[in-house]
Amino acid sequence: MSKQLTRSARKRFGQNFLVDDRVIEAILASIRASAADAIVEIGPGHGAITEGLYASQCDLTLIELDRNLVPGLLASFVSKTPGRCRLLNEDVLKVDFGQFSSPLRIVGNLPYNISTPLLFKLLELGDQIQDIHVMLQKEVVNRIAAVPGESAYGRLGVMIQATASVEPLIEVPPESFAPPPKVDSGVIRIIPCARKRSLIASMQTLTHVVRQAFSQRRKTLRNNLKDILTSEEFEVLGINPQDRPERLSVQTYVELCNYLDRKERNI
Ligand code: SAM
Repeated sequence: MSKQLTRSARKRFGQNFLVDDRVIEAILASIRASAADAIVEIGPGHGAITEGLYASQCDLTLIELDRNLVPGLLASFVSKTPGRCRLLNEDVLKVDFGQFSSPLRIVGNLPYNISTPLLFKLLELGDQIQDIHVMLQKEVVNRIAAVPGESAYGRLGVMIQATASVEPLIEVPPESFAPPPKVDSGVIRIIPCARKRSLIASMQTLTHVVRQAFSQRRKTLRNNLKDILTSEEFEVLGINPQDRPERLSVQTYVELCNYLDRKERNI
């Protein structure tokens, strides 16, 4: 079976199919799907995770780009219970999530090339998303969950942790997939948090200030933020201009964003 999956895998769709039952069970155990859930699975592939989700009797939407996989998914799931299971043969980045009922639970063993833009797209939906369980490159999981001072701490972690809580769940070695990817993977749970989101005056400003702050990791904040903050403003905000960007907490980035937003609006 593994050999067959490896032969049929299409590289351009980032296809590494899960073949490790223990990992599949661990993912399903962490999701704990139930009949009350509305779940969207991104990239179901040959249905490794889909089977367990489907068995929970949840309302299930499958989004799969590869049309070669469509007949199998229709036969195994959609055509059996079209009322509670549907398939979109589309690029998930182009799908309008407004069409789905909410709150939505998102599940996916994601193709690595779309994981970051997809997470940002999902987090923009705020309250519409109940939680997200995704398999990513382990290095990306580490960056999302990194804390200040760690080398993995950067833009991705700050932006996601500013609006959501994150929890790495399972480490997955290459042998769990066919074909095996070149790197380790990991499953992470991300729960969007309306309270955190409400504390941010402008996502646009936060995006801008975090991008600027981390534009040159080895340089000081004074250097990276010189077009945005004066020495006096560093002092008023209680930020040491000699610090490197990875020293500031997520909360401090949010405070900085809100200060700049007030300044821009002359409040
Ligand atoms: N869930 C399956 C598993 O765990 O065995 C397959 C995972 S494989 C890493 C990624 C899946 O996402 C593939 O089925 C691939 O065709 C699909 N895919 C790739 N790009 C996609 C996109 N932009 N939108 C939707 N699905 C996509």
